[in-house]
Formats: sequence, structure tokens, C-alpha cells
Amino acid sequence: MDLPKLAIAALGGTVSMQASHSGEGVIPTVSGESLLASVPELATLARITVETLGLLPSASLDFEVLLSVMSWAKYQVEQGAHGVVITQGTDTLEETSTFLDFLWDCDQPLVLTGAMRSAKQAGADGPANLLDACRVALAASSRQRGVQVVMNGQIHQAHCVRKTESLALQAFSSPVFGIAGLVVENAVRYFHHPSERKCLPWPQHTTQKVALLEASLGADTLLLENILHLGYDGLVIAGFGAGHVSQKWAEVIEHIAEKIPVIIATRTGSGSTAQSTYGFIGSEMDLVRKGASMAGFLCPRKARVLLWLLLGCQRQHELSRYLNRSA
Ligand code: ASP
Repeated sequence: MDLPKLAIAALGGTVSMQASHSGEGVIPTVSGESLLASVPELATLARITVETLGLLPSASLDFEVLLSVMSWAKYQVEQGAHGVVITQGTDTLEETSTFLDFLWDCDQPLVLTGAMRSAKQAGADGPANLLDACRVALAASSRQRGVQVVMNGQIHQAHCVRKTESLALQAFSSPVFGIAGLVVENAVRYFHHPSERKCLPWPQHTTQKVALLEASLGADTLLLENILHLGYDGLVIAGFGAGHVSQKWAEVIEHIAEKIPVIIATRTGSGSTAQSTYGFIGSEMDLVRKGASMAGFLCPRKARVLLWLLLGCQRQHELSRYLNRSA
């Protein structure tokens, strides 16, 4: 039987980590080829090409690296891959998946996975996650869904998924919207049909800077006041509750929003910002009047990714169109 073609790339992260000597901390050293060898069953599912594109902890990935990963993934599809799987660190999966999802305009699935336990740790979850991710990438039902994150038997949509546990095996959730599907007894099961997607063009610029600041009780305005002076091109605020800041912050945000796009998201970890509920100074209604945009369901980190990409293709005027998609 002619098996489908599948492309896998390793970028690093815990899934690729082991310690050189006992007592030392784990670091990324395990290649894509070795990851593949840990799941012999994969050879019965697909004709696999594997590459090691990087061996980084995911905190050290950046947008430039992701653009080269995206080029590599698109090339694999042009060469006939039915799907693409990327293994990486879980710490920034919620951002990398969103970044790639906004640019992935192929019908073929692009699936991200990782592990919470390192390669040699008892009960390592990397091989099972990789196998599940490959099953998802090969499933016909995964087409036209953009980028998915597969961890611990669950399938998450890129724009919903968040890392909500620091060390637990069940580290990911998709607040409000829930998981997109499950891998059950080797079968890929989705709960809904694919929804409409809005992709962005490839960024022409990559030097734009977007700051992310979190509102906190009694915080001074020193950093905020210096945002323009420091040359930032966009600002995201992780606001209190439904997207609120203090009176002091609201005044400074008004000045900033005259010059660069400002998005207010919620720091709560779940739910949407408000639009028309509160009217006090620093509330969402006040901040919108002052020129800021509300992030809706997009978390602060994903909102920052979106703004960076929009600035990169000079579409910042279309911000509300992208913030107003369902999640
Ligand atoms: N703890 C992380 C992981 O799960 C480390 C990283 O993100 O690289 O992979």
C-alpha cells in the first residue's frame, strides 16, 4: 500500500531534552531522527521525512525562527506532504501555534506537539504525543483546520490553546471554547466542523517591536510612559478583569494610543474583554474612547503575536477584523 507522506521537524523543548550526566539539568540534545526512532509504529502509518531545525528551549524561539519554520513547512506541503508535525518546547506553544496559524494558508494540517517529561524520564509523554500528533496530521478530518496543538490525547485549536499548568502532564487547556477533539483508540475525533479562518499575508517587516505589559495593583506608570520613547510600534496591556486599568494608566494609554495601536486584553486567563459594560475611568468603554482596541477572547500573548504580524504587513488598520473572530 502506498503510504501518505508526512514531514516532521524538531525544534527542541523538553521532548528533545535529556541530561548529559546524572544530577545535571536536562537540555535539548535529542534530534528529530532519535525522536522518530522512539516511535517505531510511525513507519506503518506514513512515509516520513524528519529534520532537526533547531535544538532550543522554546523560550528562545523567536518570530524570525518561526518564519523559517513556516517556509520549511510550506515547502514540505509543496513536495506532497499530507501533513506536517513540529515538535517544540511547551512553554511558548500558545504563542508559536497562534503565529503559525495566522500564516498557514494550506489545507493540509500543521500540528504542533511537545512533552511535559523529558526523553529519558519515567513515563515520558513525548513518544505518545508525537504518535498522536502524526495521526492528527494524517487524518482527512484535520484538513482546513489550520494549526492544531496535540498534547496528552487532546487536540486544541491554535487560537484557543493556553498552557495553564507549569509541570503537570495535563498542561494545556482551551478556556471557554474547549478542546477541538480527541485522539481515541488511535482514531482522530473532532467535535465540530472546521470554522472559517482568516490568514494574514507574509510579513514584509520583522523589526517591529510590540510591548506587553500587565496591569497590577498600585503599579506606577514609569514603563508605560517610556513606551513611545523606547521606539515600540505597538502595545498590548494584560488588563484587570474584563480589560481594565487604573486611572493613572488610562491617562498615559490615551497618549500612546494617539501614536501606536494599543490592545487591551484580560489578564484573568479565561473569558472575553468587555465592550460596553463599565464606564469608569480605566474601564473598557473609557479605554475604547481613548483609542485602544479590546482583545475579546484573545489572550494578551496571542494579541501581541497578532499585532506584530499586522504591523509586519502594514495592516494594523484591520486590527478589529482580526480581534472580532470568534476566539
Ligand atoms: N518546559 C518546557 C517544555 O515543556 C521547556 C521549553 O519550553 O522548551 O518543553
